[in-house]
Order: sequence, then C-alpha cells, then structure tokens
Amino acid sequence: MKNVSKNVFLNALVCPSLGWLLRSGEPIEQLSEEAQSLAVQFRIEQGTEIGRRARQLYPNGILLDEKTLSLAAEKTATLLADKRQAVIFEATFLINGYVTRADILRRKKKGWHLVEVKSSANDKPELVDELAYTWMIMMRAGVEISSAALMLISKEFRLGMPDEALFVEVDHTDDALARVLEFANYWNDVLKQTGAKTMPEPELRLACKKCPLFVECLGKGINNHILEIPRLSQKKFDSLKELGVVCIEDIPATFELTDNQAMVRACVVKEQPWVSSQLRETLDTVIWPAFYLDFETTMTAIPLYPEMAPYTQIPTQYSIHKCSGVGKVMEHKEFLCDPSKDSRRELAENLIKDLERRGSILTYSTFEKTTINNLAQLYPDLSDRLEPLTERLVDLLAIIRQNFYHPDFHGSASVKVTLPVIVPDMSYDDLEIADGDSASAAFAYLALGRYHSKAEIEAVKKNLLEYCARDTLAMVKLHDRLHAWE
Ligand code: SF4
Repeated sequence: MKNVSKNVFLNALVCPSLGWLLRSGEPIEQLSEEAQSLAVQFRIEQGTEIGRRARQLYPNGILLDEKTLSLAAEKTATLLADKRQAVIFEATFLINGYVTRADILRRKKKGWHLVEVKSSANDKPELVDELAYTWMIMMRAGVEISSAALMLISKEFRLGMPDEALFVEVDHTDDALARVLEFANYWNDVLKQTGAKTMPEPELRLACKKCPLFVECLGKGINNHILEIPRLSQKKFDSLKELGVVCIEDIPATFELTDNQAMVRACVVKEQPWVSSQLRETLDTVIWPAFYLDFETTMTAIPLYPEMAPYTQIPTQYSIHKCSGVGKVMEHKEFLCDPSKDSRRELAENLIKDLERRGSILTYSTFEKTTINNLAQLYPDLSDRLEPLTERLVDLLAIIRQNFYHPDFHGSASVKVTLPVIVPDMSYDDLEIADGDSASAAFAYLALGRYHSKAEIEAVKKNLLEYCARDTLAMVKLHDRLHAWE
C-alpha cells in the first residue's frame, strides 16, 4: 500500500473512491496512456525546470535527492536539527502513512518559512490547498512553520532576465493555516478510506463527469450515462439521482428537459441521429471557393522568444484546404513557423495571402477567430487585412451543435468524437502527432533545440504539418458528409 500523498489526500476530500483508486494504484489505462504522451512529458519537464531555477535562487540550499523516501526523511531530520543549514530543498516527511516533500524550507529565527513552487502564473485556491497539505504533515511531524508562501511564475518575466525575475512569492500564511486546521479533521478518515481493502462505495455527483477515472468507476459498462446530457444543471442532476436514473434512455418522458436535452434523449431512445431542417440551408450559406482553416499553438511557462510574457499563447502553424465546392479540394496551403525565432509576423502575412480576399473561412470552434484577433492586435499595421478575415468565418462546430446530433457523440461535439461517427473512414490513428497538446509540445521542443539531428528535426516538422493538414481535411469531409446527410 502506497503512502497517502498530496494528490491522494486532496482528491479523497472530494471523493473517497478517487482517493482510494489513486492510492491503491489500480491499473488505470486512461492515465497510463496519457502519461506517455509528449504533452505530459513536456509538462513534467517544464515543472522540473522551474523547480531547478527556483532552487538556484538559494545557492546555499541543500537538495535532498535520496533514492528512497525513508532515506530522504532520515536526512531531513538531520538537516532540520543542524542549525547551520538555512535552506533545504525537497525536505521529506513520512508520518503515519502520510508523505510530503516541501519544495523549499527557509530557516527563520523562529520556525521555518515554507515555500511551494508552482509553474502557474495564477494564484489559485487549489494551490493554497497543496501548500496547506505539506504544512499539515510538517505540523504533525512537530516542525514549526512560521510563514508559508507560493512561488509563482511572474507575468513580468521576459527572456534574458535573471531567474529572480521569473518568480513572484505570494504570502499565504493565514489562509493556508486555516486550511491546515480544516484538513486536520480528515486525517484519520482519509487514511482509513484510502487504505481500505475495497474501494469505498462511489457516489455519483456532477463532478464525476470530469473525473479522469469515470470510465473505470461509475461510467464502467454504461453506454448513455446521464452525465452526457448537455448542460445538465445541479438541480436536474439531483432530481434524476433521486429517481434512480443512470442512463439517458431511462429518463421519464415527463421529466422536464430543455429542447436540446430532450433532443439528445430522443436520439438515444430511438438510436437515430437528429438532423435539423435548417442544416442544409445553413451549410449552403458558405461562399465558394471556401477555405478550411486550422491553427496550432504553443504556450510555455518560460517564454520561447524575447519580449514575450510567460504563458503567451502563440500560433505556430496553420493548414488551409481551399475548396471550390462541398468536398472539392482545389489546393492545400500550410505554414509552419521557424522555431528558432518568433515568426508570428510571417505567419500572419502568409495567412492573409493564403486566405485571399473572398470566400468563407470554415473553422471548428471560435479559436481561429481569437487567434486572428490577437494577431491583429499584435501587428496593428496588418489589422486592416486581418480583421476582415473574421467576418468571413463560419464555425462548423456551432453548426453541428445547433443542427446535428448522433447518439454516438455521447454529449461531445469535439472533432475527435464527431469525425469517427460522421466520417468513419477517416482517423488520426496513423499519425505520429495526433492531438493538439502533443503538437504544442513538439513545437516547443523544436524551439528549445531539443531535437538534435537534422533528420529528427525534419521528421517532427513533417509530423506537425501532417497533423494540422489532417484537421482541415477532416473539416472538409465532415462538411461533405453532413451536406449529404438525409
Ligand atoms: S467517477 Fe466519481 S465516484 Fe468514481 S472516482 Fe471519479 S469522482 Fe469518484
């Protein structure tokens, strides 16, 4: 049995079953698949780099990197007792089945200053909870904390500045202590529940919809769960729960639903898609030749280029399929930024050229509109050519949401869900890069010079281009099949 960690404890407070699953380390396919993705790898590496830079601010600090937790805990005890040691990194505390590591401990005249280093630029209550968790364990271990703070990424940081400028320390002594005292009430319960031989009886709640283990837990074996109902309110959820309804098809006909929710129920019950009478008409408003557009972007804590704030979302590439009519591809155009420099201007200029002056621009979401508007703001001299592009946009996602539903959508209209249903002969399975987060990470790795051989760099660029091109081709096919849908 693993020790209770921060992740286990904080999740167990929300759902004891989730805490149990995380502590027992039950095989969780979904998570292990995700763990291998480039995006997760990048996120972990970014966190590690931020931790490393934070430690550099205290040259006299000592890092505990012992192989086992018990060795680290032993060494921690020795260092805490040694008055000459002013700063400790990753001090480890193991107590009654609980474990924590304190990112930075600074000795004060009285007690210690506890710092939790975060890759976030935003101060959020959940981060204070993480700080409070470590404080709670240390309090149990008899270590006095006199102040506590979060070390966050400073939005003022720019490339080339010293590491001091990368961080901003935000004091959370009072609110973290308040949470420590609250958390202490759950010490025994969490230990008992998460350490039980069998999983505590899971209780369905609205939050289960976002639970990464839903499919392993309450969603297991259920095809049309009520959590798939769009915009299900807490009130309606509670009523359905009270009625004992778990599947959409079991919702009583008399139960009050919005038009959209009732349509989803009808589709599930009849096992048939719903097509609005306006679908064809709406699709026919497209002005040809039309351009199917998709952007990829990246966003990093430590900016990739000068004069850029942390977590600036930058477009890195686009793909455009130009069509003369529904499903009739005339041309494919694409652009991939030069990762060695900030190439947003070149991207914007090429975009203006490639989208020409007339014709609808089809997208899947409003993200492209936001990206074009951001470029117009960034380059005012291009704004009179960028802004008109947004007037030509047609959002396929909005059209699908308003005019089409298939029981196999299971409440989602994301292209990764709608494509296999509407265009079953097309997929992303053959691609090396097959999701936006991985594309974002791959570009960041290119910019950071993490691929060394020319062949490797070219392969990654090719994979990025293929992925983005697949997105716009998917839109072309979606449009085509929807148009032909009877
Ligand atoms: S699906 Fe719900 S009950 Fe199950 S672990 Fe997740 S949050 Fe808990």
